[in-house]
Amino acid sequence: MYNTAYTEPSYPQRFPARRIVFSSSGDLNRAQRTLKTAAESLFAVFFPSDCRICQSSLLNISNLPVCQACLKQVAPRTGLFCSLCGEKLFSEHVQTEEGPRCGMCRRAAPPFAWASAYGAYEGVLRDLIHLLKYQRVQSVAPLLGQLMDQAIQGRQLPQELLVIPVPLFKGKRRSRGFNQAEAIAKAFVIRHRARSIQLDTSSLARIRETASQTGLTRHQRRANIRGAFAVARPERIQGRDLLVVDDVMTTGTTAGECARVLLRAGAKQVFVATVARATREIEIRFDEQSAWANAAHA
Ligand SMILES: [Zn+2]
Ligand SMILES: [Zn+2]
Repeated sequence: MYNTAYTEPSYPQRFPARRIVFSSSGDLNRAQRTLKTAAESLFAVFFPSDCRICQSSLLNISNLPVCQACLKQVAPRTGLFCSLCGEKLFSEHVQTEEGPRCGMCRRAAPPFAWASAYGAYEGVLRDLIHLLKYQRVQSVAPLLGQLMDQAIQGRQLPQELLVIPVPLFKGKRRSRGFNQAEAIAKAFVIRHRARSIQLDTSSLARIRETASQTGLTRHQRRANIRGAFAVARPERIQGRDLLVVDDVMTTGTTAGECARVLLRAGAKQVFVATVARATREIEIRFDEQSAWANAAHA
């Protein structure tokens, strides 16, 4: 869609110098505002673009094609969560000495030390993940890396950490062109340049293509994913603390399998961070359908 450009009102010819005289701070601000509006109008004329989520016209000069109104809707999850797997808890009667725990984690603790997610996998956050994952809008990655960073604020993390994105199978990576988990992990690591946090994309490999986890029970998911990952460079992860990164976590089966394999190969501890957490299967089914629709139209 073509944008209707906003045109600056023309100034009376009697005061032609008004826009370039910086005699007072008031004039300076007005001049700056005028220049900014003019620049934005020119940008809209020469690079007409719409928000990739709500389709409203974009006027801000940014490489992220999402409007401020959409970005304002991105919010962290609220409520009570399992301190181990991050599952949302709906009852207060889940407290243990180590913190709130879901039924699954009370029966058997997951292999990872904890898993944290920024927001619920819905609305604008889901749209942002889809922009990166299915429409390959790579400029979304820094924002998702920042949100994931927020997800682990308040968690105890060691000073030295290897960040391992959940790998894609080679063929899938080739057809998608990139791994969205890797793009998010990279953006996260860049934010922590000063600390001893390193990206590691070669120690963990996906050695088998897995069927979609959609519609499977937790038990079926576990069977589906078992044997899908292998540690290619055990010497690199031995005795190390690892942060496994993914875009979305549903039941935690994939992250759990990565953690299991990494711990068996000698890792000290594994933590898990994701941008979003999906809680209901129905949302995933809907999501996969819309993802296919997006991919078809991309
Ligand atoms: Zn928008
Ligand atoms: Zn749990």
